[in-house]
Amino acid sequence: MSDVRPHRSYLATIYGCYCPRCREGKLFERPLSFRLRGIMKMNERCPVCGQITDIEVGFYYGTGYVSYFIGIFISLATLITWWLIIGFSFHDNRFVYWVVCNSLFLASLQPFLMRFSRSLWLSWFVPFDPDWKEHALPGHERINREQMGNW
Ligand SMILES: [Zn+2]
Repeated sequence: MSDVRPHRSYLATIYGCYCPRCREGKLFERPLSFRLRGIMKMNERCPVCGQITDIEVGFYYGTGYVSYFIGIFISLATLITWWLIIGFSFHDNRFVYWVVCNSLFLASLQPFLMRFSRSLWLSWFVPFDPDWKEHALPGHERINREQMGNW
């Protein structure tokens, strides 16, 4: 039996950094804010369904590649936008200005991108279970407590 309440969509789940299993619990201990201290601290378990967030040693290592490709995608988007609105020329420094502006933009997005990448990454390994209340938590035999966060 499914919950009567409509559940969060996949995009809203990863964008809002919710647990991919129940789509209710928050993955991170603190909301994203300008005070950067501790914003990457994740709940060890989903506060709603109990899903473990660090499901194996070095699990989030791959998120570097995710945010790298998102960064390339954003850079392409700003390049095309700059080209259409401001343009490029061999006779001035407009390309350099784009490089500087794009770098600052990416740096300012970094806290969001790092959290978003983790949320996206976890959603590729933990499937949504609308009936999570009736199902037991999947086993996590690859968890090594001593090695948690050690990467
Ligand atoms: Zn959950």
